[in-house]
Amino acid sequence: MSSLTCTDLSLTYPGGTRALHRVSLAAADGEFLALVGPSGSGKTSLLRAIAGFVQPDAGTITLGETTVSGADAWVPPERRGLGMVFQQHAIWPHWSVGRNVDYPLRRTGLAATERRRRTEHALELVGLAEYRDRNPATLSGGQRQRVALARALAARPRVLLLDEALSALDEPLRAAMRVEIRMLAEREGLTVVHVTHDREEALAVADRVAVLNHGALQQVGTPQELVEDPATSFVASFLADATLLDVVPAGDELRLRTGGHRVPVGVVRTMSADGPDGARADAPAGTRADAPAGADADGPGSARADDSGSAARPAPGHVLAVLPEEVRLRADPEGEGHVESSLFTRTGAQVQLTWHGQPLQARVPERGLRRGDRVDVRVGRALLYGGAGVATAP
Ligand code: ADP
Ligand code: MG
Repeated sequence: MSSLTCTDLSLTYPGGTRALHRVSLAAADGEFLALVGPSGSGKTSLLRAIAGFVQPDAGTITLGETTVSGADAWVPPERRGLGMVFQQHAIWPHWSVGRNVDYPLRRTGLAATERRRRTEHALELVGLAEYRDRNPATLSGGQRQRVALARALAARPRVLLLDEALSALDEPLRAAMRVEIRMLAEREGLTVVHVTHDREEALAVADRVAVLNHGALQQVGTPQELVEDPATSFVASFLADATLLDVVPAGDELRLRTGGHRVPVGVVRTMSADGPDGARADAPAGTRADAPAGADADGPGSARADDSGSAARPAPGHVLAVLPEEVRLRADPEGEGHVESSLFTRTGAQVQLTWHGQPLQARVPERGLRRGDRVDVRVGRALLYGGAGVATAP
């Protein structure tokens, strides 16, 4: 059974910013779902809509069997039975830890003994059992964040919503808390929606990851599915640092749209579509009012959420996503790659190149490359987005 179902949610703020566009997403009972996307992609807006702090213009939100938000349904936030933890813990500094955790329970009218039992249990869950009478000012940032978590858990929420709850913590504490939250969720069978802009965190903790961009869902899948089968070039770029090349198929080859240089790629994997809604790839190219691929050809930062499209739009471009791990470099004074920088990594170097006027990112085992070096560039395997017609030259 799904604990949480969002269907076709759209949200536009007064002033006209469209924060969510037809988002459909479900979290199963006991599932740990991560919601990841760049800043401004609509993550907080989606959580706020689920929590009931904003009202979507369209779509429905269902918790268990109950529709809490829809055309003719509205359940106020305090009656949705959700727990929420934000990046900046809203802990009352002049109250003890225990009183902070107890505070929301008081408002539910629970008996004092039951409240005390729940407060103690929640503090135990987050490892703060001995801190009940402490002043929060005497706690570390990580401990204060645990107080916020205990407070959310004490109310026994149907779904726990975390909005960048770990983002304010420094490493290595953040990594440790990641593990703790994941274990706690498993032990308690919690349903969690964990919002983060941190890709590694999302992939590490979640059963499934949902990727948002410009208010539209790009892909929902297991971490492995996302990494191995990015549904859109945006996902490839955002989750795997792929370089996106605007290319034109020419016979068996792929050429850069600008300059026409052949891309030296071994294996090309053709992906079926490149849009937040895979079904759109079935529509004839160039006639889709909101065809996203043309916009996406501009690169990961391109605006694809505008509504200005019309039948006059150009046919979707072909975008080749080159994963940094697939780039092979060989020192060569005649080579067409120019090393811009080479940064140390645990497994080698992260190299930033310019190649035919195009920035290109590589992760290679050799650490000896220096700024100004010239290299020969090959690509082992790359992903081609852009729908039908890839095999034929235009
Ligand atoms: P994220 O959490 O992914 O960074 P948000 O949901 O906060 O993104 O924001 C999505 C978009 O909505 C952004 O363009 C942001 O500027 C806009 N936005 C967020 N909150 C408001 C608001 N209260 N009023 C108007 N625009 C807002
Ligand atoms: Mg946010």
